[in-house]
Parts: sequence; C-alpha cells; structure tokens
Amino acid sequence: MDTYRRLLTRLSAESIVELTKALVSIPTENPPGTYYEECAAALIAELTALRFEDIHREGLCVIASAGPGPRTLVFSGHYDVVPAQNRDQFTPRVEGANLFGRGSSDMKSGLAAMIHAAAAARDEGLLEHGRIQLVFVPDEETAGPQGTPHLISRGFPGKDVIGMLTPEPTGGVIWNSNRGAISLRATLRGKAAHVGRQFEGINAFERALPIFARLAEIKKEVELRETTYNIAPVAARKSILLIGGRVEAGTNFNVVPGACSFTLDRRINPEEDLQVESRRLLEALDGLEIETLQHEPAAATRADHRLGQILARNIALVTGRDPAFELCPGLLETRFYAARGIPAFAYGPGLLTVSHGPNEFVPIRNLAHCAAIYSLTAAELFRAAPLRAVDG
Ligand SMILES: [Zn+2]
Repeated sequence: MDTYRRLLTRLSAESIVELTKALVSIPTENPPGTYYEECAAALIAELTALRFEDIHREGLCVIASAGPGPRTLVFSGHYDVVPAQNRDQFTPRVEGANLFGRGSSDMKSGLAAMIHAAAAARDEGLLEHGRIQLVFVPDEETAGPQGTPHLISRGFPGKDVIGMLTPEPTGGVIWNSNRGAISLRATLRGKAAHVGRQFEGINAFERALPIFARLAEIKKEVELRETTYNIAPVAARKSILLIGGRVEAGTNFNVVPGACSFTLDRRINPEEDLQVESRRLLEALDGLEIETLQHEPAAATRADHRLGQILARNIALVTGRDPAFELCPGLLETRFYAARGIPAFAYGPGLLTVSHGPNEFVPIRNLAHCAAIYSLTAAELFRAAPLRAVDG
C-alpha cells in the first residue's frame, strides 16, 4: 500500500472524534478564561499516550514535537473557546454526519486532527528530515497575554521554524492573510445636572457630536480603500471603521449626561499601517480618555509561497477541490509568524458560519481529511519532491 493510502487508512475519523469530544467537554470559555489548567493537562496526557517528544508547558501553553528536525513546521492552535450560548454545548454529541459542541469547529477538532496527523507522519517515517512542533495556546479569542504573546516573550518561534499552519475554521478555503485591529473605547467627561437647570451642567453627549462628525469623515475616506487580497463579496474589500459599536451616556432623559463613552473598531487591510492608522484615530480623539481594547497588526503570506502551494495541492488531492486563498475577515494567530518572515496559513476542518454560534458543529468527514492534509503537507515540505499517491 502506498504512503498516501496508508495515511488515509490510519487516520480514521474515530480517534480524532474521540479526542475532539474529550476537549469539547472541557469548558475553556474565554472570556473569562476558565478550565485552562484542565485542558492543558488533557492535551499533555494525549501527547504522552501518543509518544510525542519534548512535551512541556510554557505557562499555560502546551508544546510537543515529533521528528528529529532541525527544520521545524509549527502546527499551532488555540484551546480556548468563546462563551457558550447554553451549557449543553459542553456535552458533545454526534448527530448524523456532524459533531456538535462549543469548540467543535473553532477549533478543538483542528487540534485533534493536528495531533493525530503529526503522530501518523512520524510513524509512517515521513519526518526523517524535519520536525513538527505542536503548539497549543489559550487566550486567543480575546487576544489575551497568556497565549502566543507569552511564547513570543520567551523567544518563540525559534530560528529553525520554516512554516506555520493553524486549523481555524476556514470552511474549505486557505486564509493567507488577515486584517489588523485597532479597537478603542473613548470617554468624554461633562457635568450632570437636572434638565431644569441645564445651565449648571456640561452635556458630555453634545460635546461628542463634533467628534462623531469628524469620525464619520474619516470613515468615508477609509471606505474608499480596498484590499487587493482575495475576499468575497466585493463589498468586503473595503477597509473598515465601525463607529459606536457600544455607546453609553447619561442616566435618564431628564438629566444632563455627565459622561459619554463610545467604542471604535478599525479593521485595517494588510496594505495599511497599524501605527499610521492608529495615530490618525487618536488625533481625532484628542483630549478624550482612551482605553485600548485591541492593537494588532494585519499580516499576509504570499499565496505562491512553497508551503502554501504544497498545502493547496494536498487539499486538492484529499478533497478533490482546489482551494481558494482568501483574506480572513478577523484576526489570525498567523500574524505572529508572518511578522517574523515565517510563512503562515490557516486551514481547518470547521466552518466559520457556525463558529461562535449556538449550534456549532463540524462535519466529521473533514476531520480525517484535514489530518491527512496536514501529514502530507509536512512530509512534502521536508522532502525535495512532491509525495504523490503513487509513491510506495
Ligand atoms: Zn479560532
């Protein structure tokens, strides 16, 4: 039997489904960030059972590897999930062809697929000229400090890392780029007073009006900028400024508002500069109290990079469909790698359309498919020639 078929046979959905279910049942909700210790322990137990090497923790991050190296392909994903809409979501269940539960799509199924993919690649002798490093982090959903930023502060990724894959729920496409985010809360102060004695107060909401007008001007100009990266529909190409996602002022209709606060969410295209765009917003908000909620750069890896081409070829081989390369509408952890010149791509078994929702699920057939794709991609990256179905 050739390597490709042996891999497909070996990577049965069953073991990946079982591990996904075990992980889904640990409610690693973020915010606030619960059960991280328990999930890290469960991952370490699985990695130990599958005989990975160099299994260790850096804080709450879990790291392990397979293969002698030195060239290293990182398989990295997050084990935190967004809060559940109902507690049943932490009781995983198989219904028909799908596995339901919080994190089934985003992205505990992806972690399970990556673990089994790395073990299978090692056991099939595909990692003789390289190493897969598994890196599992918490805190991704809120861009918190305990995940990848913690590893970066400890000197990660090392000089031998030549690529990174993450199993975000891409729904069949490859994300090779992502937008950056500048998210702020701005507050103006005034002075509360009874409506009948308005002259004694300072209306914070009215003070905000010229600032809103200024922001609306910036928004008009921002929306004229379109990314050249691939994202559908065409309207999604425009750069983004969301004004007033959350607005609060005053206490009642008959009281002069003593404070007014509002949020801004600026999502920058890969062509835009984080510092330039941030400065521009702050100038418009001069004199206000500012709370920074997110400050993250955009990132991109060229679709024609060798790792991207190998990934795309193996997706086509396993699924029968050529994947498109697209811009991810949200933040991606690939940014930490791309910013350091390491090619980084997202491709996972889940679906973005159901992620974060009350009926999150993953199609079970995608699990073994993805695992095979990850194994074949690592094998081919470390070899000179493509690994084809005809290889013995
Ligand atoms: Zn995710």
